[in-house]
Amino acid sequence: MKITILGSGTSTGVPMVGCLCPVCTSTDPRDLRTRASILVDTSPDLRRQALREKIPHIDAVLYTHTHADHVNGIDDLRGYHLMHRRAVPCYAASEIIDHLTRHFSYIFSGSGDGGYKPLLEAHSISGKFHLFGSTIQPVPLVHGCVRATGYRIGNIAYLTDCNRIPESSMALLSGLDTLILDGLRYKPHPNHFNIEQAIKISEQLQPRRTILTHLTHEVSHEDERRLPEGVFFAYDGMVIE
Ligand SMILES: [Zn+2]
Ligand SMILES: [Zn+2]
Ligand SMILES: [Zn+2]
Repeated sequence: MKITILGSGTSTGVPMVGCLCPVCTSTDPRDLRTRASILVDTSPDLRRQALREKIPHIDAVLYTHTHADHVNGIDDLRGYHLMHRRAVPCYAASEIIDHLTRHFSYIFSGSGDGGYKPLLEAHSISGKFHLFGSTIQPVPLVHGCVRATGYRIGNIAYLTDCNRIPESSMALLSGLDTLILDGLRYKPHPNHFNIEQAIKISEQLQPRRTILTHLTHEVSHEDERRLPEGVFFAYDGMVIE
């Protein structure tokens, strides 16, 4: 399996509009971060990400939660529909499916005037499921006052947007090779792990390597050398095999 980090940035993306700080004006391409995605979620940068990585088709979409930076690129799946004429299956916890089908009804039901065909086919998940020969284990996460879903696929886990991992979810994360984890920034945040907290989680779970994502403009890629051994910053276009 190959996972590409489509986006490694927080909700504003980096550079952030209106900001001229050293990271927002950095010449290191790894400091240019589109909104967090690994082709789980449809970030508002989906169009740019799909063009950059030359993604010819999408087999399925897994949603983590309904915040705008993870969902609002949903309409950019239209290109795939125009090319392949089929609805793409999407998987998420039932409350997320409810939200998506209410807010983007035309995406799931079509527009009824002959303009839009359904682009996505909704599937509610409550536990482990199988997709294209892989077992996918949803990992319930706490993200401030909402719940988010992380996903474990084989020995890789993608846990973005969280500030707490319940004990029952920690139990689903043993023996990981690669942990991709929310590490937002250095300062604490009510809805996200900061870098120090993410490193603690990594020490508890002991994956072979940990990749911190959903990074703000307060994090410069060159600070990676100050991270503990085996902990790295994600960057757009990073390939994990
Ligand atoms: Zn987010
Ligand atoms: Zn900045
Ligand atoms: Zn969020």
